[in-house]
Amino acid sequence: MNAKILLLPGDGIGPEVTVEARRLIDAVAEIHGLDFQIEEALIGGAALDETGDPLPADTLARCREADAVILGAVGGPKWDDPDARKRPEQGLLDLRKELGLFANLRPVRLHPSLADISPLKAEHIRNVDLMVVRELTGGSYFGKKKLSEDTASDDYTYSRDEIERVVRLAANMARNRYGRVTMIDKANVLATSRLWRKVSAEVMEKSFPDVAYETMLVDAAAMHIVANPSRFNVIVTENMFGDILTDEASVLVGSMGMLPSASLGEGTKGLYEPIHGSAPDIAGRGLANPFGMLASVGMMFEYSLGMREVARQIELAIWNAVSSGERTLDIGGNLRTDEAADAVISHLDDIHTKKVAFI
Ligand code: NAD
Repeated sequence: MNAKILLLPGDGIGPEVTVEARRLIDAVAEIHGLDFQIEEALIGGAALDETGDPLPADTLARCREADAVILGAVGGPKWDDPDARKRPEQGLLDLRKELGLFANLRPVRLHPSLADISPLKAEHIRNVDLMVVRELTGGSYFGKKKLSEDTASDDYTYSRDEIERVVRLAANMARNRYGRVTMIDKANVLATSRLWRKVSAEVMEKSFPDVAYETMLVDAAAMHIVANPSRFNVIVTENMFGDILTDEASVLVGSMGMLPSASLGEGTKGLYEPIHGSAPDIAGRGLANPFGMLASVGMMFEYSLGMREVARQIELAIWNAVSSGERTLDIGGNLRTDEAADAVISHLDDIHTKKVAFI
């Protein structure tokens, strides 16, 4: 295994958690006797400052060559001018589109000992283990935009192919989790949603008769995600609903710093990033929780490098660190970013050498 991994640290706490991602990959390489080619490139505000472009051509070319890309976060107050011609976030949107990454996966699982820091009642969230699959390159975010003094419009289009490929991906996910797919739309109002409903039903009936399937309106789903989140297993939905529902679901686990994500396309190449942003309020102080980033590295081993066992071991190592109280400030601990990552690496070593299971 000589996989090429490209790191895009970005802005704010992005570089702080990306350093820890690199240390975890190095640790996996050492434990398993593997060799990875790891490089770094610019994106976001850091790239704007240096090259005038949030996604420089060199970065895009190197992303195309890599087997997997790991991204910290982009953006921050320095680049917040609403009239700016180029913004850091555009670099990330363009990257997803250019790499054809049409599905964003966000697993949301709660460590039982963190139930108390969630704003929701512990009994409502104890068994939460859901995977949200969001369509990432279509819908209103990518449609033609018009804005004049008195009117504005965003073209909101989906094709059968765009729907079919992401529903298939979600259904395969559900099959591996012995789960159920919930397709979320607004079919009582939107034409695009009616197409989603028709195509999803056809795909599920024809290719996944063994996977349980249901549909739900987005307004009801927004309510159920906070009132009864453990009823969901795999959620699949279009771009904008997914954007909103995934942020809502992230509240369940108490801190933005805990959650990973993967963006995938047709092949095995993927973009892996924690769900949080650049957190300018804590940047440069060693306070960032690295667990969402380290869990994203775990997803990379599963989906891009085909090493499911390593992915499971990383998940377990993070779980064991949380169980042992080795935590950053946001989840009730007092460890610094690097110390929390040290804890995960040490648990990973124990899992490998001493065959330690769940703590
Ligand atoms: P944010 O996720 O950066 O921060 C929200 C809150 O969560 C803050 O209080 C922050 O301190 C905390 N937090 C986030 N990550 C944490 C971590 N790892 N450990 C501990 N606490 C953590 O969201 P925001 O404040 O709305 O946005 C800040 C900047 O990030 C903006 O410029 C925004 O555009 C950008 N952003 C980027 C991405 C991305 O790169 N994918 C995503 C969201 C926001």
